[in-house]
Amino acid sequence: MSPSVIDKYFLPLKNRDVFSITENFYIDISMVCNLNCRYCNIVKLQKYREVLTFDKFEVVIKNIDPNKAYNITFYGGEPLIFLKELVLMIELLKKINPQNKISVFTNGILINETVEKLAKSGVINLIISLDGEKTINDMNRKYKYNKKSVYKDVISNLKKYSLFEYSNVNVVISLNNYKYLEKSLSHLVELGFKNINFDIDYTAKWSDFDLKNLRIKILSIVKKYFSDIKNGKKYCISNFFRNPVKKNNNVRYLFLMPDGNFYYSEYVRFIDYKNHKQEILKFFERLARYDNMSINEIVSGICMYILHKGKINFDIFIKIEKMMKEILNKFTFDYENTGWNRK
Ligand code: SF4
Repeated sequence: MSPSVIDKYFLPLKNRDVFSITENFYIDISMVCNLNCRYCNIVKLQKYREVLTFDKFEVVIKNIDPNKAYNITFYGGEPLIFLKELVLMIELLKKINPQNKISVFTNGILINETVEKLAKSGVINLIISLDGEKTINDMNRKYKYNKKSVYKDVISNLKKYSLFEYSNVNVVISLNNYKYLEKSLSHLVELGFKNINFDIDYTAKWSDFDLKNLRIKILSIVKKYFSDIKNGKKYCISNFFRNPVKKNNNVRYLFLMPDGNFYYSEYVRFIDYKNHKQEILKFFERLARYDNMSINEIVSGICMYILHKGKINFDIFIKIEKMMKEILNKFTFDYENTGWNRK
């Protein structure tokens, strides 16, 4: 493979092409966040202060296909820090096509009446980052400049605006919290969240022992989940409903970054592509051989490797992906059997 072949994955995409490549977009208005979570890769990028203003956004969005319904997720950084811009962007996307599905990922600290209205009216799908009960959540999710409990503040906001049943929750499973996985999920269901998703912290140093135990924990929550559903509980762990078979090199989503350009990964913007080209090519060829890795994962993995100065172990990522595929293949659930409809 020649280095120029991978240029298209590591350079900004041509704006006019992006809306036909995929229907799934992430938008990072900025990389700035009011928290400093232990496993976060974004916090390391905060010196990059650029903001996707509404003016820039309007220019970008001119090429969107008004006849297509897109899945658009505001990500970041913390999108609610830029609430004014965010609301204008959401209004424009809905004006272009009311069928555009908009999600907003937030740590929940800045939720207010505006966010409440957007969530309750169904204009946005709110996704709250929360890992479980207070001690478990606050192990990793922390304020930058004070020792206040993040959990307490997020829960108090969700209570104040009665948003539990209108919000999805996203849990990050890491080395220091996977032991409490059953407890965390039970707690989130008790709070009233109807949709739960979990991500795994691939940058943690998982040993074989930890991976074996992580597998046991995930199997345990799958079993508990199906038993809960049989007993009439109505919640969804969205990971169990995803089709685990990804086609190698499929484009699954694109990122619109604060510079007004689209990329295959939000980390592309932060690596020195020119000076790492040979190294990138070597890893690209290696990772593209694995089944079940999308082009987004390959590009993200390589960027993370460079950003972490070679401290990321690709084999761990591959092992976790294989493990998840094996578990999900065994258990992926026929949703119709649950007897209720997930929104
Ligand atoms: S809330 Fe999200 S973006 Fe902010 S520090 Fe935590 S993980 Fe990173």
